[in-house]
Amino acid sequence: MSDRVRLSLIVPCYNEQDNVEKFYEAVVGAFRGHIPSYELVFINDGSADGTWERLLKIRADNPDARLKLVNFSRNFGKEAAMYSGFQHAVGDYVTVIDADLQQRPEVVVQMVDYLDANPGCDCVAAFQQTRREGGFMGACKKIFYKLINSVSETRFYPDASDFRTMRRPMADVVARLTEHHRFAKGIFSWVGFNTYYMPYVADERNAGTTSWSFIKLLKYALEGIMSYTTFPLKLPLYLCAMLGFGALVCLVVALAAASPAWGWACFGLALCTVQMLALSMIGLYLAHVYMEEKKRPICIEKDYLTYKEAED
Ligand code: UDP
Ligand code: MG
Repeated sequence: MSDRVRLSLIVPCYNEQDNVEKFYEAVVGAFRGHIPSYELVFINDGSADGTWERLLKIRADNPDARLKLVNFSRNFGKEAAMYSGFQHAVGDYVTVIDADLQQRPEVVVQMVDYLDANPGCDCVAAFQQTRREGGFMGACKKIFYKLINSVSETRFYPDASDFRTMRRPMADVVARLTEHHRFAKGIFSWVGFNTYYMPYVADERNAGTTSWSFIKLLKYALEGIMSYTTFPLKLPLYLCAMLGFGALVCLVVALAAASPAWGWACFGLALCTVQMLALSMIGLYLAHVYMEEKKRPICIEKDYLTYKEAED
């Protein structure tokens, strides 16, 4: 097994005991004849069922397979599982895929073919052209994307999933981002690189149920907003500007009409403006500290060409 690993599959697993074996078989079947060398990085994210035992069984039954099994000490969440996967994946291409067979391994083959055919493309991200869930959930997700795209400098592609395949340089950068409050969709977008959005149709979950309740999704959405914008911390500044403008208007009217009432209004608003100014100063500094604390790279050099002597 000396040939290099062409593709790594990162597979976060939480209570997937009835899926992991089928998933493994599906991958083997879909990749046969298409992807010569690949590894699977399974992360058991503190499952309460027999997922880990099933993974060990896959390992025992397939001694020649390139399998990496990570067992978390408890449930840390899918974001942590993906992070761990990126630390262990060594393939030229790296794919993040769910274990429940909603995302078919055949689509991974299409992603790899696309990357092979398009050297300028760094990442292929799958997105659901027609979402499974309509109604309330669908509407909430639409609102989330509208909101986050209006307040964040990072662009979020609506309906893009974590299901994607990227080249090694992009995977290296993702692995280097060590922020604790993670939001993969934001990370993938923040690191840049050319991403092609490939439409796909998600299948039904093979077995088990989704671990995302409405509350969990709401918290996750909040995580996304808080991780990718400091807009809420800047709100006092906008309020301060509005109050200051109000105070100025009151002052002009008070002077023009020689009205003590408007004068008092001006005084009240001026006091509020001063208070809001103090708050906005704290907010602005906090926003800086918050972004610094993430310790994201200052820039990401995708290519670097130099002259002959410098290379020696
Ligand atoms: N998952 C995980 N940790 C968690 C929750 C989910 O590793 O705390 C995994 C899960 O096993 C699956 C993937 O993340 O492989 C997506 O989860 P799920 O199918 O529940 O989400 P949905 O498809 O409904 O968005
Ligand atoms: Mg699923």
